[in-house]
Amino acid sequence: MHQPAAESSTEPHLEGLRERLARVMDLRAAAAVLEWDQETYMPDGAAEARAAQIATVQSLAHEHFVSEEVGRLLEDLEPEVADLDPLATESALVRIVRRDYDKARKLPTSLVARFAQTVSRAKQAWKKARADDDYAKFEPHLRSLIDLNIEKANALGFKDHIYDALLDEYEPGMKTQLVTEIFDDLRRELVPIVEQIAERTQVNDTILHQRFDPDLQWEFGMEVIRDFGYDLSRGRQDLSAHPFSTSFSITDVRVTTRISEDYLPTGLFGTMHEAGHALYEQGIDLELDRTPLADGTSLGMHESQSRLWENLVGRSRPFWQRYYPRLQSVFPKQLEGVSLETFYRAVNKVEPGFIRVEADEVTYNLHIMLRFELEKALIEGRLETSDLPEEWMRRMKEYLGVRPETDADGVLQDIHWSLGAFGYFPTYALGNLMSTQIFEKAGRDLGNLEEDIAEGNFAELLSWLRENIHRYGRKMDALDVLEHATGQGLSAKSWLAYIRSKYDQVYAPAS
Ligand code: ZN
Repeated sequence: MHQPAAESSTEPHLEGLRERLARVMDLRAAAAVLEWDQETYMPDGAAEARAAQIATVQSLAHEHFVSEEVGRLLEDLEPEVADLDPLATESALVRIVRRDYDKARKLPTSLVARFAQTVSRAKQAWKKARADDDYAKFEPHLRSLIDLNIEKANALGFKDHIYDALLDEYEPGMKTQLVTEIFDDLRRELVPIVEQIAERTQVNDTILHQRFDPDLQWEFGMEVIRDFGYDLSRGRQDLSAHPFSTSFSITDVRVTTRISEDYLPTGLFGTMHEAGHALYEQGIDLELDRTPLADGTSLGMHESQSRLWENLVGRSRPFWQRYYPRLQSVFPKQLEGVSLETFYRAVNKVEPGFIRVEADEVTYNLHIMLRFELEKALIEGRLETSDLPEEWMRRMKEYLGVRPETDADGVLQDIHWSLGAFGYFPTYALGNLMSTQIFEKAGRDLGNLEEDIAEGNFAELLSWLRENIHRYGRKMDALDVLEHATGQGLSAKSWLAYIRSKYDQVYAPAS
């Protein structure tokens, strides 16, 4: 099938690089299939064998990638693509692969091995500590993981701030300074908004806490994401304890969901969320398949897409104008006599709580800011692990007005730190901020977005996202994609305006 164009001297080298990378990507995809199966269908007894299988395939992929051969191909190609458009596939491929390659080679094998061992012990300790509400069981492991992350950051290198090196793993090009500034703005404005909402009459959401048949929930969710444009000839949905999306190729992007029998939003919005992730990956230019460019450009940009479909579309009034009558016909007993307005308010209820994964759209970012500030201080050495639980409680009270009674509901609630993932948390909030910037611009360009949504027509929105965001894959970093798509830099302004205007209505004083 390959027919190198004779006139281009980069072709033979480029073909060589692409072939090499295709094998790396095939191995990574094989590992991802094993992981997907682990979370969906694998019997529990296979856990140990599967962990070994995944580790073997991943290490093969790694060895293949960091080989001298890839280094030589990159060196040969770099001068040849130097004058090309940076968005041309050839030059983007060489640039991004060079970046990944240098990073991968900067980490000493011994550090990678120690990191993996520490994580595997820390994860077990964290599970036990959380179950027993006993932070002391986890603290020594956390201390080791912080030290290892500092070592990792130093090995990767950084210019301004040590946390930059960690952030860069999940959000390439993002800087600690910028995140700090944006989060400071956000917190200043958001804390009073949450306080104001708390003073209004609380929304009643008891209608959501009833028994809803899981099969019918599943079918309704599938109907919605098919309408969104999720292509089932290149994807599928299964059940898993922790919902996720994964991709083995642009032609095979899967989602999982979790359904609660007695609380409707879990399955409903979880399904939309993961489909949002999957729509991103299904929209990447097919030309990039089997290359490292065939992925979302950052976790933040990825999250902007899931949040856009889950919140900006799925929790909007126009969406429910269309879908609420349909939902009522699926669950006539539960929703009989419940008005659209009551339902709309219920799915947009705001209530400060202890648990991040249960947080609503308004308070979610405060949970993230707290984690960002704490993990940054831990990495900087300004905060000791012994002071962490109390510092967590203090900030919960300050930002959200609630103080957890246990560490299990506080510092021990998330798995991320036990996996050694420092620099990951901020991407959730960055995604929320990007989502409104992107949605606003799409709305301006399309003109009739609300009407389209109210008609269950998402095709134009999806094509806009494909054209402006999805197709590039990793060719551009998130901030460049955002700038390219919206003409703006990252800021909290548009998200705050959205929250203000929406929740002024949801929590309007009774007239
Ligand atoms: Zn997500």
